[in-house]
Amino acid sequence: MITRFSVAMTTSVALRLTEHLRRADGQEDCTFVLWRPSTGSHRTTALIADLVLPGDDDRIVHGTVDFTSEYFLRTAGIAAEHGCGLGLIHAHPGGRGWQRLNDVDHAAEASFAAQTITLTGLPLVGMTFAGVDARYGARVWQRTEPRTYRPTEAENVRVVGDRFTVTFNDSLVPPPKSTDRQVRTISAWGQDAQNDLARLRVGVVGTGSVGMLIVEALARTGLQHLSLFDFDTVEYVNLDRLLHATERDVRLHRAKVDVATRAARRATTAADMRVARHELSVVEPDGFAAAADCDLLISCVDRPWPRAALNLLAYAHLIPVVDGGISVNARGGRLRGAEWRAHVAASGRACLECLGQYDPAHVSVERDGLLDDPAYIKGLPSDHPLRRKENVFIFSASAAAAQLNQFLTMVTAPSGIADTGAHLYHLTTATIDQRVDGCETDCPYDGMLRALGDNTPFTVTGRHLAAEKARADRARARRRWPLRVERAIDRLVSQFL
Ligand SMILES: [Zn+2]
Ligand SMILES: [Zn+2]
Repeated sequence: MITRFSVAMTTSVALRLTEHLRRADGQEDCTFVLWRPSTGSHRTTALIADLVLPGDDDRIVHGTVDFTSEYFLRTAGIAAEHGCGLGLIHAHPGGRGWQRLNDVDHAAEASFAAQTITLTGLPLVGMTFAGVDARYGARVWQRTEPRTYRPTEAENVRVVGDRFTVTFNDSLVPPPKSTDRQVRTISAWGQDAQNDLARLRVGVVGTGSVGMLIVEALARTGLQHLSLFDFDTVEYVNLDRLLHATERDVRLHRAKVDVATRAARRATTAADMRVARHELSVVEPDGFAAAADCDLLISCVDRPWPRAALNLLAYAHLIPVVDGGISVNARGGRLRGAEWRAHVAASGRACLECLGQYDPAHVSVERDGLLDDPAYIKGLPSDHPLRRKENVFIFSASAAAAQLNQFLTMVTAPSGIADTGAHLYHLTTATIDQRVDGCETDCPYDGMLRALGDNTPFTVTGRHLAAEKARADRARARRRWPLRVERAIDRLVSQFL
């Protein structure tokens, strides 16, 4: 049973829908679509994979629209053949914003909800298109008791590509209460952009030096739902780069994700903010599922395996991933240069593999645990990308800022521009390289894997021994007596901060 529901599609699918549903004569029209499920830990998303447009004999347009049973049966057959579900989208030509289900549409969709699940094995998705601003409303029809089907309203409908356009269902996800703490923020981009930003579920994957800065910025901006992912423990070597981390955090073996959660709660300007903290890697099955609950992900990891998992979430699950990275050239113990990158992995844009952000050959090396094996790392050449560890706070701040700008540009499209390409910044020349093309032609991510969701034919998740060890080490440390006392005092003190 789906309790939390959402719909996502690429910009190119959305454009084809708009072209079909906005009729020159102003009449209502409709079309069936194929969808595949993307199952998160709490939310299920219907990924619109394709349209099955009606022929002239398939529907009767007479002010309102009706389709023939031949059209329904033919499309249900195509859906079943491709392992897809069936959705029906009809237009409200004069509509604007989220479209609620009215009585006429309720009766129409209810009349074939049972047949749809029988023929395809998946529940009917009903959608309404608002003709004025090309927004949507959506619901999924599930059986609540024998022969009774009821609609579960979607929380939002997401269109992912150059721009990230999310239509929220105001009754399930109401606009945020404004607070006097956001006056300057709202004067910069307006209440509408703030309503969109604040309601996004953003996941920050990796709350190390870059991720912690991003969490700070998102909390200050007033985002209401943050999901934070990190399995690591704060150590002394992190203190020169990890905002908010203290020596006490090191002594208490605090998880980085707990420092990030504490920081977000102190920094938030939202009247009501929820943080979901996950002491998990995104490559662990529970971590991957929790990431699939997010509307957008910000990648602050530097390993190939999590990057491969995030790449899959970006294209197969249509969750845009704002990724970045830092590379410092310190040959001979002197700073010779530094570079940092920021880009968005989303359909229509180059994926992390095509951008060279990870080498797929290294994913299996990491899965085998070799990247946490000192002997293996020692055997690599000193300038090998898997070996280089140099980084400083100043470059982390630069990378974090570049990623935040990519995020903001994609969501708010200043001056109508949402996609400024992938950026590579050079410290020594003060220049930026921009890449604006998409994936290589034979790349599977923005190709055969696009919108496959749960039907993806391989598994990217698995056991992550380093994450398991980090959690076990923390649990063991917390059981020791002096730490138990100090942690108790810490909890007490933190209540008054
Ligand atoms: Zn209608
Ligand atoms: Zn690619």
